[in-house]
Amino acid sequence: MHPDLMNNEATPTPSAPITQDVMTIPRKLPEGPINLVGLTREALRETLIAHGTPEKQAKMRMGQIWQWIYQWGVRDFDAMTNLSKAYRADLAEKFVIAVPDVITRQLSDDGTRKYLVRIAGGHEVEVVYIPETDRGTLCISSQVGCTLTCSFCHTGTQKLVRNLTAGEIIGQVMVARDDLGEWPEPGTRSEEGPRLLSNIVLMGMGEPLYNFDNVRDAMKIAMDPEGIQLSRRRITLSTSGVVPEIAKTAQEIGCLLAVSFHATTDEVRDKLVPINKRWNIETLLTALREYPKVSNSERITFEYVMLKDVNDSDADARRLVQLIKGIPAKINLIPFNEWPGAPYVRSDWPRIKAFADIIHDAGYASPIRKPRGEDIMAACGQLKSATERARKSKKQIEAEAKL
Ligand code: SAH
Ligand code: SF4
Repeated sequence: MHPDLMNNEATPTPSAPITQDVMTIPRKLPEGPINLVGLTREALRETLIAHGTPEKQAKMRMGQIWQWIYQWGVRDFDAMTNLSKAYRADLAEKFVIAVPDVITRQLSDDGTRKYLVRIAGGHEVEVVYIPETDRGTLCISSQVGCTLTCSFCHTGTQKLVRNLTAGEIIGQVMVARDDLGEWPEPGTRSEEGPRLLSNIVLMGMGEPLYNFDNVRDAMKIAMDPEGIQLSRRRITLSTSGVVPEIAKTAQEIGCLLAVSFHATTDEVRDKLVPINKRWNIETLLTALREYPKVSNSERITFEYVMLKDVNDSDADARRLVQLIKGIPAKINLIPFNEWPGAPYVRSDWPRIKAFADIIHDAGYASPIRKPRGEDIMAACGQLKSATERARKSKKQIEAEAKL
């Protein structure tokens, strides 16, 4: 090679290989000014220092900015009146406080609200708010789409997948609080008494344990006592059974755990929840037995989707009770929510009731999840944004379900 051409700067570096593997997608998206939303306390402090805040002041400034963002929901640096004007201007030049854009907001007849929010790259995810008499639950997403391909799940038919950043995950909580008008007045604390948004469930799109670090950071922010302040017992993470991450969830997040169980034999679970081929029922149950001890939490929720003639027999109910023996548990029966092209139908009501009775008689709570927001496609497993049209064909879905 000619010596001139050996100059590194003149040699174009080959671009990074394109990969479909979601685990290799970098956590930070290389875009625009730095977004402070989603940084942990420590990362926020370091970011301020790296951009000129004197190290001695950084801890205090971090605490002040944190409180504005997460306690009072302020997005404009200029409103942060306990910071000097010059410092506010400096921050505004270097950073943004950005949450996802709300594109549409639908209100169901039963009060459920569904937001379609847009995140970097033009992707859209759905966020669902479910009001109840004494509480309100927000169902949030952890990924665009899902790499797993559970055969009864609409999200699993979506081809496009990317991990959400921590900012995009906590940002879903922040936009819901905006809409509910639930930020306390600056300078005050949250009022005592029930909150409109009192619980979070990670049961929207995606497998949260395939995006562990971002989910953990976002939930730490949600639990922070100087901010959104939700107790770890009011956050439920639902996993399809990513066994190696279950112990980490207990240690590093400590929230409640729900598991998409859905079948009582490996043969059936392999078809419904294909990750079962990697970590089977026995391996999963071993990890679940440890969870309450390590996280010091109460019951594990076993989610069980009711699919007609697939997993809904009396024998299934009895096997389920046997399998989970010794685990503090509640079994949440979910009548299958149908979607266009779905290869299953919902179990009949008397069948669901009979199944629930067997579990109940064995001493477990067995609530049947009432589908909420069905008229706006906000029910479990129905979430899929309108823009992500690249979907698998019916044939492909059926082939994967090996019907
Ligand atoms: N990926 C995680 C969390 C999101 S799914 C998980 O699988 O646990 C939230 C719950 O809805 C899971 O229990 C999932 O199995 C269930 N679900 C998915 N599609 C469904 C459908 N069409 N009808 C009823 N429940 C469904
Ligand atoms: Fe993914 Fe959960 Fe749907 Fe399975 S049920 S495809 S893990 S979102």
